Formats: sequence, structure tokens, C-alpha cells
Amino acid sequence: MVDVAGLGVDFLDVRVGDILTMKKKHPCGENRFLVLRSGMDFRIRCMKCDREVMVPRLRCEKNIKAITRPEPSPKA
Ligand SMILES: [Zn+2]
Repeated sequence: MVDVAGLGVDFLDVRVGDILTMKKKHPCGENRFLVLRSGMDFRIRCMKCDREVMVPRLRCEKNIKAITRPEPSPKA
């Protein structure tokens, strides 16, 4: 879990597979979203209702509270 509040960065390292905790909740009440696509726009999926949304990167980054990245399995 990376707390992005107060980091002061203008570019967030968001990757496919990351889970974003957003400041703004989805209408269904969930505030965690899975990243399906990264780029100029993010495609994210609500963790609760499975709805997918496209969000412009800049707008999305402003809304991110935290990034959770699943630990990659260690290489043998
Ligand atoms: Zn939802």
C-alpha cells in the first residue's frame, strides 16, 4: 500500500493490475478499482459491482488516495 497523499509527485506509477483506492466513491459505494489499462486514459473496474469506466489520466490521478500493488511472485 502506497500512501500518495503529500508525496507531491505529478506522475504516478500506475500499472495494470494495481488496485486504486480513490477519494471519490463509485455510486455503488466502493472506492477501490482494479486497473485494466494504463495510458492517456485509465480503464478501471469497480471492485464491487464490476462496472468498467474510462477516466482521463489526470483526473484519475487527482482522485487516487492509495495504490495497492499485488506482490509479484518471487522468481526462482
Ligand atoms: Zn461500483
